[in-house]
Parts: sequence; C-alpha cells; structure tokens
Amino acid sequence: MSFDLSGRTALVTGASRGIGYFLALELAKRGAHVIAVARTVGGLEELDDEIQAMGNTATLVPLDLKDMPALDLLGSSINDRWGKLDILVANAGVLGTISPVGHVEAKVFDNVISTNLTSIWRLIRSVDPLLRRSDAGRAILMSSGVAHTARAFWAPYAASKAAVEVMGRSWAEETKQMPLRVNSVNPGATRTAMRAKAMPGEDPETLPHPADVAAKIVQLADPALTITGQLYDVRQDKFLHYHMPS
Ligand code: NDP
Repeated sequence: MSFDLSGRTALVTGASRGIGYFLALELAKRGAHVIAVARTVGGLEELDDEIQAMGNTATLVPLDLKDMPALDLLGSSINDRWGKLDILVANAGVLGTISPVGHVEAKVFDNVISTNLTSIWRLIRSVDPLLRRSDAGRAILMSSGVAHTARAFWAPYAASKAAVEVMGRSWAEETKQMPLRVNSVNPGATRTAMRAKAMPGEDPETLPHPADVAAKIVQLADPALTITGQLYDVRQDKFLHYHMPS
C-alpha cells in the first residue's frame, strides 16, 4: 500500500536492528523524517546511511530507554524542533530470561518491565501533546502473541506486552475524538536477534524477514487510517477487534 508521509516526523524506538530498523526504513521510504532511538550507535548509523542513500534524512538518538529523564527531554527537544510529532513507533523490547516465574531474578523482571512497559508510558507522557497536534497522529505499540496465550516460562515478557496493549487501549479511548489513532501490533515470529535468542533450535530461514513484517506494519502509519484501540495481527494481516465503549 502506498501513501505519502512527506513532511511528517516519526519517532521509532529499537531502530538499530530487527523489526524497528526496517520499519524506520519503510517510514523514510514514504518521506517521513525518522527520529531513530536505540543504544547501539553502529546500528543507527547503518540505518542513517540507508536513509541518506534514498535521499531522505534521519535524526539519531542513541539512548537507553530505561533513562526516564532522557525520555522527558526527548519530547521537549522534538517540540523545539518540529512543534509536533506525527508517528510514534514504540517497538524496542527485551525478552529477559526464559524461566519459571518463581525463579525470575528481580533485576531481570525489572529490566523487562522497565524497557517494555514503563519506558513506553514515559514516552507517551512525553510526546502525547505533540501527537495530538498532528492532523494524523499515529501510535504503533509493539506487542506479541504471548500477550494472548499461556506460554510457560515467558511471564515477565508476556505480562509486559499484555500491559502495553491495555495501556494503548486506554489511550486510544481517551483520544478517539481526535485525529490520533493508537493501535498495537502482534508481528508474529520474525527472523531477528530476539527470536533467535528465544528459540535457539529454530531455523531462522523458516521465519519471515523483518523487512516483510515491517512492510505490513507500516500501514498503521497511513494518514487515512480510521481504526483505533485495536490489535493488528501481521500473520493474518487483519485487525483483531477489542470491544470498545461506544
Ligand atoms: P531485536 O532484539 O532484534 O531488536 C530490539 C530493539 O530494541 C533493538 O533495536 C534494541 O536496540 C532496542 N532496545 C532494547 N532495549 C533497549 C533499551 N534499553 N534502550 C533502547 N533501545 C533498546 O528485537 P525484534 O526486532 O525481534 O523485536 C522488536 C519488537 O517486536 C519487540 O518489542 C519484540 O518484543 C516484538 N516481537 C518480536 C517478535 C519476533 O519474533 N522477533 C515476535 C513478537 C513480538 P539496542 O540494543 O541497540 O539498544
């Protein structure tokens, strides 16, 4: 699906590799200026090279999303430079360790919740006024199938993803009278570093490439999108509707 994002600004977390990297490219391909966030400078620079090669520009923000005051400052920096934000992609995430819930170390639990949930809330708090100023604000929150199933040994990760979806639905409900559209995504198993860590015995070649997954997710940034407060399932290429109050 082709739509134009020229003149629009998109903040993408976890843009140094995996799904976030290719989503940033998809957005840039459509003309958006991408603000790319991650810790790994090398990955961000590689992305920047690819975006420049297509004749567009990006702003690189090497940042640990657990640095909450830095997330507060990010909103004010975006405000100073652009006065609004059109697209937020809260994609960054960590898996933590796969272990029985009663054996999870406190620091692992805290890291997963802080990276996958608290940082997204803090980012929303920082950029919500800027997204409301856009005539087509779009928020894309990365979830996972484990938010909807019972997967043994994945408790912190699964809990963080379920919480992100619920938070997103509240936000969508609060903003449904505005142009802002807020949706979650289940990308499905994708050929990335995270998936390889989760499933070391799996042949990555059997999984979809993140570029193909990103090409579908980018639809949620379409200025013509009307749906809000829902979960987009990449594998099924459709929205799985939640009940929202009328
Ligand atoms: P990757 O591990 O390949 O990439 C994760 C990204 O998140 C990296 O860019 C990483 O950057 C960034 N990140 C992690 N922690 C931090 C942090 N503290 N501060 C800043 N950036 C951080 O993961 P995927 O591409 O596979 O996953 C992307 C999203 O999709 C995640 O939310 C994941 O849970 C979800 N997902 C993935 C599935 C899959 O099969 N791959 C399936 C279901 C959901 P850096 O390390 O440079 O900071």
